[in-house]
Amino acid sequence: MSLNSHLWKIAVDAPIRYVLTYSTVGFEKDLAPGQWVQVPLGRRKVAGLCLGPATEADLNENFKVKSIEAIDSEYPPWSKPFLQWLDWLAQYYIHPPGLVASLALPPLRRNPNGKTRKSNRAAVIPVLPSEAPLQLNQEQKVVVDKIAQASGFSTHLIFGVTGSGKTEIYLQLLEKILDEGKTGLVLVPEIALTPQLIQRFARRFGNKIAALHSQLTDRERTNQWWDMVEGRKQILIGARSALFCPVPNLGLIIVDEEHEPSYKQDEKLKYNGRDAAIMLGKHMNCPVLLGSATPSLESWKNAIEGRYHLHQLKHRVADRSLPEFTIIDFKEKNSSNPESLAFSRAKSKESLPFWLSPQLHDALKFQLEQKNQSALFLNRRGLAQMVLCPDCGHTRECPNCDISLTLHANTHLICHYCDYHENFKTLCPDCREGELKPLGLGTELVETDLRKLFPEARIARADRDEIQNRQELEDLISQMENGEIDFLIGTQMIAKGLDFPKLKLVAFVLADVGFNFPDFRATERSFQLLTQMSGRSGRHVLSGETPGQVVVQTYNREHESLVRAQKTDFEGFAEQELLHRKALNYPPYGRLVCFRVQGAKLGEARDSVQALAQRAFALKTKFSAYDNLEILGPAEAPLSRIRGQFRFHLLVKGSQAQVLNQFCRQLVGDEKWFPHSVKVLVDIDPIHLL
Ligand code: ADP
Ligand code: ZN
Repeated sequence: MSLNSHLWKIAVDAPIRYVLTYSTVGFEKDLAPGQWVQVPLGRRKVAGLCLGPATEADLNENFKVKSIEAIDSEYPPWSKPFLQWLDWLAQYYIHPPGLVASLALPPLRRNPNGKTRKSNRAAVIPVLPSEAPLQLNQEQKVVVDKIAQASGFSTHLIFGVTGSGKTEIYLQLLEKILDEGKTGLVLVPEIALTPQLIQRFARRFGNKIAALHSQLTDRERTNQWWDMVEGRKQILIGARSALFCPVPNLGLIIVDEEHEPSYKQDEKLKYNGRDAAIMLGKHMNCPVLLGSATPSLESWKNAIEGRYHLHQLKHRVADRSLPEFTIIDFKEKNSSNPESLAFSRAKSKESLPFWLSPQLHDALKFQLEQKNQSALFLNRRGLAQMVLCPDCGHTRECPNCDISLTLHANTHLICHYCDYHENFKTLCPDCREGELKPLGLGTELVETDLRKLFPEARIARADRDEIQNRQELEDLISQMENGEIDFLIGTQMIAKGLDFPKLKLVAFVLADVGFNFPDFRATERSFQLLTQMSGRSGRHVLSGETPGQVVVQTYNREHESLVRAQKTDFEGFAEQELLHRKALNYPPYGRLVCFRVQGAKLGEARDSVQALAQRAFALKTKFSAYDNLEILGPAEAPLSRIRGQFRFHLLVKGSQAQVLNQFCRQLVGDEKWFPHSVKVLVDIDPIHLL
């Protein structure tokens, strides 16, 4: 045997950008790709994943090749396609390969004695009476038949209005996969991974289901992981990180609500769960199914251009009607700015709070009388958006963040980014004369006002102040299901996947909140939110019955997202929005990379981002391959200081992912050219640009 066969590529669990080479000289056991090993690194011993044999060419002359110390026999070797997928993640997202690999390990070692400790917690998957598949309607049947024919890798987009029976399609396709002796992976946004959803799967598939989500203990997650890896369970349903479970024999990957921004992880490995799912399907050679009522423009473009198979569901099941959609124009009532309305509140002649139109008031009253439920949506927590001194204009800002503090319960000012708290004192600390006044609107104010207006109504609020963990959300959901709530007020926490039969009115207290976000996707987000939230209304109304209602209060009656959402016109919306994106070469046309430079010292952070920009321009000038790249910035991030960190952005726009990737690698470079106290973070295909 030549020496070469003793050399192996190992991705070590450490922040090192390269795969290292180790040898098995003096090592008796056979090593195979996909096995975990123990290797020396400096003076430490670390875990590493064996990716495959190395050659002399992989050796770095400056380092002496060290020997692998042991094979970790706890884990079966991972398959080659899975290793290739991990490698793709590391390459594409420019993240240390060993840190990517370690995401695919369960949180804990296996229980040594195989016994699980008794716990009082509810089972991860409940045992429920089994339920037969529903009789598919014609639209559903066409989709199931087409997708079931797919063998090998292909990507499918189901574009179906809310309540059109997408989930039923997933269930029936999974059933076919199980019949073929294969396994399935279902991704849903974390917040949609409710007991409602798990129960639906459990009723259909009984003990074949495993689940992975953030509310499980490490031990539970470890057990679920092993159940999948050792084939005791055949369907894994989970949040984006479930992708990293090395499920054998994959036959289908489903990404529900594929447009959800929460599929993107914003820290460490900044991957997009949807995109990573498609690549996993490609490596595993199995179909990938994306579903949404409001597809992302990325997926939509791929579908209409034929790279994905497009399947449409145009109707709600059983001809249940879509809700009636009313827009209330605040401009007609008040000419002033929404934020200043708080001032005029006391002066208002009408008895209604400033944020409540007579039409919405009547609609709430009507639904209450009919014993139906209503939901009021407002993407802002707290009592008031900010406090301001009318005498000197002082606003209370967070000492750590560049953001105004929000008033809660009339007693506290809170920072929504770092959770800084202070007591609310009305005397202005700046001029020491004026009195700080609450300004703007939040969910807490909506609740307080509604309680005064409808003392008999049962009112609940769902936002991060009220609902701090999953259990509380679940309790709230069952209260809604049991009809114990008349009005539910909430932030986007209530916009996802919930299905309440008695919910007949969905109201947007102030739709404009999202319109002017400093993000090129703001209009798309607004459209999605309007459509998804509206889709909660009247889901169980039969044809012929009074449909559900949607009431939107706004100052921007003509906003593209609103006009299109009212008509349930996703396609028209997409066409229009794609034109804008194309004109500016934004995704899904161009591709973006966002470099975020941050540090506790303003000067250092600013100097570093300027140095980064200079390097970028120099690189672009030097290599003609980079001619078509656009460098935007540097600029202060829209949130210019968070938790005491000053933040700057440099954006790079290009057309080809590979060219961009190469550019970014060169731009960051190998040596550290910025101070240790500064961080330079690379976000490929960024979603959140704040
Ligand atoms: P989506 O995922 O598109 O929002 P769901 O799959 O949740 O839609 O379906 C909405 C409702 O319609 C659910 O209550 C579901 O049980 C029911 N449903 C779905 N398909 C059928 C069908 N073929 N026949 C009767 N009811 C159905
Ligand atoms: Zn703060």
